[in-house]
Amino acid sequence: KGDPRLQAISQAIRVVPHFPKPGIMFQDITTLLLDHKAFKDTVDIFVDRYRDMGISVVAGVEARGFMFGPSIALAIGAKFVPLRKPRKLPGEVISEEYVLEYGTDCLEMHVGAVQPGERALVIDDLVATGGTLSAAISLLGAEVVECACVIGLPEVKGGRDRVVFEVGGFPSRLV
Ligand code: AMP
Repeated sequence: KGDPRLQAISQAIRVVPHFPKPGIMFQDITTLLLDHKAFKDTVDIFVDRYRDMGISVVAGVEARGFMFGPSIALAIGAKFVPLRKPRKLPGEVISEEYVLEYGTDCLEMHVGAVQPGERALVIDDLVATGGTLSAAISLLGAEVVECACVIGLPEVKGGRDRVVFEVGGFPSRLV
């Protein structure tokens, strides 16, 4: 908060009403990726926060956690582990199912990607209810130091706890 970079990051995120279905205000971070300065500032804010926390693994949630996680991992000297949607990973996996507003979803991770006792950071683009991040924490079986997202939807409370760090706050620009 109070960081002058945050406003530009917020403004670089496009908000698309009623996508992918009526009533959803979709936060589109692809426009942030097009803005080199805002993209780099976003990664730098995470890197500054996590570089000295003894983190050995950055886990990214498919698909938009893959767009920020590897850059952060390289900069802080950690490995990157993709948490994928079902039936994408070729090796032996462990799975974690979680409940959505309508139905369920699932994340998978390769067995052996993370050792017990490793210190992990979980990255996604956005936290709403926190259900996805909770599933990621369960799946990792490591010590999750923190979960971090670019965006936190302010209207969605409950389920989200203090392990979540949000960089950009709520973007203001509408298409
Ligand atoms: P949740 O599990 O409820 O915290 O939802 C977070 C997950 O759903 C993240 O992986 C987001 O990418 C996605 N998501 C939820 N709501 C939105 C939204 N309004 N715009 C973009 N992505 C969203």
